[in-house]
Amino acid sequence: MTIYQVALPIPMRQVFDYLSENTTLDKGVRVLVPFGARNLVGIVVGKVTHSDHLSKLKPITKELDSEPVLDSTMRYLCHWLSQYYHHPLGEVYQAALPVALRKGVSSTPKPIDYLSLVDSVASEAHQLLGRAKKQISLFEVLLAGSQPVSRLKQQFTDSVINALIEKKIANKVQVEEQARTDWHTKIELAEKPLPNIQQSLAITAITHKLDQYTAYLIEGVTGSGKTEVYLQGIEAVLKRNQQVLILVPEIGLTPQTVGRFEKRFGLPVGVLHSNLTDNERLTVWQKSRSAEMPLVIGTRSAIFTPMPRLGMIIVDEEHDASYKQQDGLKYNARDLAVIRAKHQKVPLILGSATPCLETLNNALKGKYQHLELTERAGSAVQAKQNLMDITNQPLKSGIAQGMLDRMQSHLQAGSQVMIFINRRGYAPALICHQCGFVEECTRCNKAYTLHKSLNKIQCHYCGGAKPIPSACSYCSSLDISAQGVGTEQLEISLSESFPQYSSVRIDSDSARGKTKLNALLDDINKGKHSILIGTQILSKGHHFPNVTLVVILDADGALFSADFRAAEHLAQLITQLSGRAGRADKPGEMWLQTHQPGHPLLQDLVNNGYAHFARYALLERKEAQLPPFSYQALFRAEATKASLAFEFLSEVSALLTNNSVRILGPVPALMEKRQGRYRMQLLLQSASRQHINNAIAKQIKSIENLPLARKVRWSVDIDPQDFI
Ligand code: ADP
Ligand code: ZN
Ligand code: ZN
Repeated sequence: MTIYQVALPIPMRQVFDYLSENTTLDKGVRVLVPFGARNLVGIVVGKVTHSDHLSKLKPITKELDSEPVLDSTMRYLCHWLSQYYHHPLGEVYQAALPVALRKGVSSTPKPIDYLSLVDSVASEAHQLLGRAKKQISLFEVLLAGSQPVSRLKQQFTDSVINALIEKKIANKVQVEEQARTDWHTKIELAEKPLPNIQQSLAITAITHKLDQYTAYLIEGVTGSGKTEVYLQGIEAVLKRNQQVLILVPEIGLTPQTVGRFEKRFGLPVGVLHSNLTDNERLTVWQKSRSAEMPLVIGTRSAIFTPMPRLGMIIVDEEHDASYKQQDGLKYNARDLAVIRAKHQKVPLILGSATPCLETLNNALKGKYQHLELTERAGSAVQAKQNLMDITNQPLKSGIAQGMLDRMQSHLQAGSQVMIFINRRGYAPALICHQCGFVEECTRCNKAYTLHKSLNKIQCHYCGGAKPIPSACSYCSSLDISAQGVGTEQLEISLSESFPQYSSVRIDSDSARGKTKLNALLDDINKGKHSILIGTQILSKGHHFPNVTLVVILDADGALFSADFRAAEHLAQLITQLSGRAGRADKPGEMWLQTHQPGHPLLQDLVNNGYAHFARYALLERKEAQLPPFSYQALFRAEATKASLAFEFLSEVSALLTNNSVRILGPVPALMEKRQGRYRMQLLLQSASRQHINNAIAKQIKSIENLPLARKVRWSVDIDPQDFI
C-alpha cells in the first residue's frame, strides 16, 4: 500500500492521506475519495512514507486520470496562489480546473466517429449505389478521405449515411481527431498596417527577446494601436509554433475582438468567458493542453489554461477591475500572469491607456520595460476634454441646459452623443415629501432604487425587491417621489427633449447577457440610435466612431470618497469614456458636469491627460505611504451580530501583532451591513510585502482554529482593491 496526500475542495488548510495499491500515481491526477459521508474529487499532491493515522486511512475509491490534469506549471501556480493568498490548496486546485473536471468527467476528448470507405469497395460501388443521387455524392465526398460523422450530418441525412453502411461501402471508425499542432506552416496572414515609429519600437523590443521572461507595459492612449502591437508580437510567436494566451476584461470580449485575431492569422482561436457551457469550456481546455489551439482569448480565469508550448502572455486593459476575483479565492489574474510568465520564461505584455498605479510604478522604476504610444494611430485625433460648472444651474434629469444645447448641435450635425451615468434604474431613492422618510432595504440599510420599468423598488446590494409602495411606509402620506437620476429616467427625459432622435439605454438591466449587449452595440454602430445612455459598460473596449460628444454626469462623489483609489478609478473612467469617441473627420469632445470645476485632480486630468495625472497621483501615494509604496492585506468578517465580527477580528489582531506590520481596526466596513449581516474589517499595512506575508502565514492556522471562526464568515484579501 502507498500513502498519497490528496488536496480536497474544502475550506481547510491541510491535505489528507489516502491509501492505494497503485504505487505510481502522478502528482496532479484526480482521484475520487471518501470524505465523511460524501465522495469528493481530489488532486494527488504527493506520496508520503508515514502517516500519524495509518490505521484509520481509507483507500482511494477511484483513479480518474491516467495523465495529470494539472501539469507542473499549473501545480506551481496553484502552490504560489495558495501561499501568497493564504488560501486552502484544495480550493485553489478546484478554481484552476474547468467545472466539468471538478465534477469528475473524463479529461481526454471522446474519440470521434469517422465515416470511412471500405478498402476493396471502389470497383463495385457504382453498381451498389445505382441511381441514389445523395448516396453517390456522399461516396464522392468520402473518396477524398474519411470525414467526422458529425460534420457529414450537416450535409447528409442519417438514412443516406446508413445506406452506405448497410451496403458495406463505408463503415464507422473511431479515431482520435488528428492534432494539428504545426500551425506555423498554416498561418494565413491578412493585410496589416505599416506600424508607425512608436509601434515599430515596441514591436522590435518585444520580438527580439522571445526566449525569456520580460514584462512590458504598453502605455498607449486609446486608439494608439496597442492591439496592432500585440498582433505583430503574436505573429512572431506563432511562427515559432508557440501558443499565446490573451486576457481581456469581462465585458471587453466581443465577437469583434475575437474576429480581429481570427482574421489576422487565419487560425482557430479558443474563447473562454463566463457564458460558456461546461463542455465548451472543457473543449478549449483540452485543445489547449494538447497544443492544438494556437491562441486562447479569455477573461480572468483563462489564466489557468494549460499551454505546453506557451510563448507569450498578453493582458489587455491591465487596469481593469474584473481581473481581480472578489470572492472565494481573491486572486488578481494580472499578477498571476506575471508569476506564470516568469515561470514559463516567456514575455508578458501589459497594455492600457490608463495603467493602474501599481503597474505604472513598476514600469517607471524599470521592473517592467516601458513602451509608450502617445499618438492615435491612423489619422484619428484625441477627444478634447472639458469641465462644465453646474453650480447653481437648473438641471433637467441631471443635465444642464448648456449641455442640452450642445447635444442638440451634435445631433443636428448627424453625430451620435453618449451620456454616462453610474446609476441604473429610474432614481436612486424614493423619498416622502411629508416626513422625509426614505424607503430602505432593512437587510443592507441602503435606499432602494426605483425601477419604474420593472414596477419595483430594488436594493442594489442584495438584490431584494418589492412592489413600488403607493404611500410612505412611515407616515402613510401619498406624497412620495423619486429622488435623483438613473439611466431609466434619463432615457425618458432625453426622448422628451429630443423626440426626433432615437435613444438607447445600455446598462445591466437592458443588456443582460452577452448576445443582448452585442446586438445593442451592433445597432449603435449601424446608426439606429443617436443618443446612447449607459453605465460603466460603455467605457469598456467598444469604439463608437460616430460619437462626437461624450457627457459624464455626476461623478463628484469619487472626489470625496473614503477609498484612496477612487480618484485613480475616476480618472481611468473619464479617460476611457472620452477614448470611445471620434475619428479623423469627426473629432470628439468630452464634457464632465461637475460642482467642483476647480478641483486640482479634474484640472490636471483635463488639461494634462491621464499620463500626467497618474504620475502626480503616484507622488501623493508615496507621500502618504499608500500602495504601491506599501502593501496591504484585509481581513473581513461578517455576522448577524456586529459584536461577533468585532471580537473575532480583535482576536485576529492580537494574533498578528508584530512590530513590522501596522494593524488598523477592527472598524466597520464602508458598507456596514449587507444582506442582514454586519461587516467589519481589519487592515494590515507594511512597507514590506514579505513582512505581511510572514505575519499571516505564521498565524493563519491559529486563526482558522479560533472558536469564533465558526461563528462568523471571514476571509483574508491580499492586495485588496476595495474596502466596501
Ligand atoms: P488600441 O488597441 O490602442 O485601441 P488599435 O490597435 O485597435 O488601438 O488601433 C486603432 C485603429 O487604428 C485600428 O482601426 C487599427 O487598425 C488602426 N491602426 C493601428 N495601427 C495603425 C497604423 N500603424 N497605421 C494605420 N492604422 C493603424
Ligand atoms: Zn439589500
Ligand atoms: Zn412619510
